[in-house]
Amino acid sequence: MRLDPARDALLVVDLQHDFLPGGALAVPGGDEVVAPIARLAPAFPTVVATQDFHPPGHVSFASAHPGHRPYESLARPQGAQELWPDHCVQGTRGAALHEGLPDRALTLVLRKGTRREVDSYSAFRENAGPDGRRPTTGLAAWLEARGVRRVFVCGLARDFCVRWSALDAAEAGFEACVVDDLTRAVFPERRAEVDAAFARAGVRLVAGRELER
Ligand SMILES: [Zn+2]
Repeated sequence: MRLDPARDALLVVDLQHDFLPGGALAVPGGDEVVAPIARLAPAFPTVVATQDFHPPGHVSFASAHPGHRPYESLARPQGAQELWPDHCVQGTRGAALHEGLPDRALTLVLRKGTRREVDSYSAFRENAGPDGRRPTTGLAAWLEARGVRRVFVCGLARDFCVRWSALDAAEAGFEACVVDDLTRAVFPERRAEVDAAFARAGVRLVAGRELER
């Protein structure tokens, strides 16, 4: 697949210490994608990195819900909230982007999940808040203003933030591709469910090595 620098953007999702082995919410094999993503990034004139960036006591932390444990799902009026270990707390090393993807490679760093009451898996829209709405992050309009039409999504984790970012990219009208070998999942055994969601939304799966400048 030939890249079109005028129309393509790379979206690097949550390449942060807490999502890598040794981190608070480690994604198995997450460290394996850092170097290949760093090698791919220079092929894109627009590279957006998301950064999960939570205040202490964030709604997604099991510790904020007495009696509940990480990796449980909590029923809330606006929908289920998965509960996680405390992770990507603002100002901690765990929240920092991995240095293996150099800062100079990034056009934009988009912080998400910054409000205590609302989680945000997607780079484009927050999860449903107490009012049931999913507010935009503004990213779709920013990309459109730069002439981007196609978004390649990579990073962590395939079954949460990559998944929702790719689905929302497609919903926003972009051609959406997941660079599949440059993602890793929290629950790899649920791959079929995630792939079905991608297929329904018209999200393509591509391999990093297929992408030519
Ligand atoms: Zn988070």
